[in-house]
Amino acid sequence: MSELGVGKEIVTNCSKCSLELAHIIEVMENPTTPLRVKCKTCGSSHKFKVKKAAKAKTTRTRKPRVSSEQKLLNNWEEAMAKAKGETQKYSIKEKFEIGEIVDHPKFGIGVVGKALDANKIEVIFKTSLKVLMHNK
Ligand SMILES: [Zn+2]
Repeated sequence: MSELGVGKEIVTNCSKCSLELAHIIEVMENPTTPLRVKCKTCGSSHKFKVKKAAKAKTTRTRKPRVSSEQKLLNNWEEAMAKAKGETQKYSIKEKFEIGEIVDHPKFGIGVVGKALDANKIEVIFKTSLKVLMHNK
């Protein structure tokens, strides 16, 4: 085992970067174990974590992340809940207001989320966000 000491480099897991990275030892707990280390990549100093068995790494469970599709669907549901007025068939000639429901032949039912300019609206559809022309 190589010598350890304050100012020496050690490769350990950075709690901020979530990666095995080179750290500089700032404080030693005892001659063989560092107490605090500073990540050379992100510059944060944190407690040195004693390495667990390699097995622990592969079995580490990840938090389920909300997919972008799910996020869009949530957005859509929220927008639909707040939407007002009757569903209007989409037509480039129609003028749409924020919060109105648009029935698009290709994208389906959407809600106007934003007016980008006089002729452009951003519409929240179930599976995508689209910029549509209107008021032409
Ligand atoms: Zn880091």
